[in-house]
Amino acid sequence: MSELKLFNTLTREKESFVPVKAGEVRMYSCGPTVYNHPHIGNLRTFLWSDLLRRYLEWRGYRVTQVMNITDVEDKIIRNANAAKQDINTYTAPFIDEFHTSLKELRVKPADSYPRATDFIPQMVTLVEELRARGHTYEVEGSTYFRVASLPSYGRLARVEIATDSGFSRVESDEYEKENARDFVLWKAKKEGEPSWPSAIGEGRPGWHLECSAMSMHLLGETFDIHTGAVDLIFPHHENEIAQSEGATGKPFVRFWIHGEHLNIDTQKMSKSLGNIYTLAEIREMGYSPLALRYALLSVPHRTKLNFTTQSLDDAKNALQRIELFLLRLDEIATSAPRDAKHSDGHAQELIGNFLSAFQEAMDDDLNTAGALGAIFTLIRETNVAIDAGRITSSDAAGIRTALHKIDPVFDIFPAREQSIDADVERLIEARNAARKARNFAESDRLRDELLAMGIVLEDGAGGTRWRKKS
Ligand SMILES: [Zn+2]
Repeated sequence: MSELKLFNTLTREKESFVPVKAGEVRMYSCGPTVYNHPHIGNLRTFLWSDLLRRYLEWRGYRVTQVMNITDVEDKIIRNANAAKQDINTYTAPFIDEFHTSLKELRVKPADSYPRATDFIPQMVTLVEELRARGHTYEVEGSTYFRVASLPSYGRLARVEIATDSGFSRVESDEYEKENARDFVLWKAKKEGEPSWPSAIGEGRPGWHLECSAMSMHLLGETFDIHTGAVDLIFPHHENEIAQSEGATGKPFVRFWIHGEHLNIDTQKMSKSLGNIYTLAEIREMGYSPLALRYALLSVPHRTKLNFTTQSLDDAKNALQRIELFLLRLDEIATSAPRDAKHSDGHAQELIGNFLSAFQEAMDDDLNTAGALGAIFTLIRETNVAIDAGRITSSDAAGIRTALHKIDPVFDIFPAREQSIDADVERLIEARNAARKARNFAESDRLRDELLAMGIVLEDGAGGTRWRKKS
């Protein structure tokens, strides 16, 4: 069996993936800045981060994934002020839309979605630690990170920093590599901006500080994987490293994984071109969220994705082929000779080839195109074998099982295959209602009914989660 290799932006190499703690992976994914509707470029990033997490789970790791929600930063404040709303009121519908879009796209929920505004004390503490280690200075109530105080600054983005004369500071959260300068950690209170009183003065956090504070608080000072789109490498991720390593003196993240951009008909998606698509718009064009899921996942994360309506049509066709194939397998399973001893072993060979091709492709830095290709090779070769009368009912069942074995990774099977999920959700809701009404006999009965379906419930602080009994 091959080993999992992931391209690490830090080293610019595909490296064998080994987590800090055997069997466990802690990963942080930069989440949305909730100042507008998530577009398909954002959704692509969330989809491949989820795919990475799913594949790690498939590989047997226990994964903890944290995705932040940036609910205070420059753009949010600007837009909220323009809408004459406070930031909570302004961001609430975008946060809802983010969660709904992810659910429709079958993205598994992260283990937690910390909001920046809930972690202000941790951010202040981080600035104090940086100050104690001599990495900061203050100007007019704002605290800045002194880039020259950290010799390794620029290592991730590979920027040369001229730290000699006339080095200036930058106020805004986003800027270009060419403008690398001392960056702001804590911004002094300004008229018309939300602010928090603190030991480092009244103000608000810079965007970069938010991710450093939340990730280390929830995952530890050193964790395994940090994901995001390539445009976050600089300055966001470079500054996260500076803040975290500057404060702890320890390596912050082992694997930095970045996904490429998405273009629309070879053009950059932009407001001025009017080619920014949201999930709702894709739907209006007559495509399902599942087709979008397939189209976005079929291109490996480090490849630029050229999004066209053709890519959605291709996705639709691919999904249809899979669905028809599953139906054909069902048919064989009930009509062909049942007896396993009639099998000539060809199906076993097809299954073996399929599973190893699938894993080999995914182990190679999540080569999703190769992994999906393995599915269609299996479909093609099985169809030939069926036509030649070489597939028995037990062969067909075996092939079906093999496809179901990989489905937790891509999760692209038709809804029919997933109807169990809807049933389970409905029963869980009924059970929650019964518990709320303190009707424990009913809630126990529903738990037993779910158990009979092979579903185990786990009640926790974040609500009830369920998993299939293994
Ligand atoms: Zn971030």
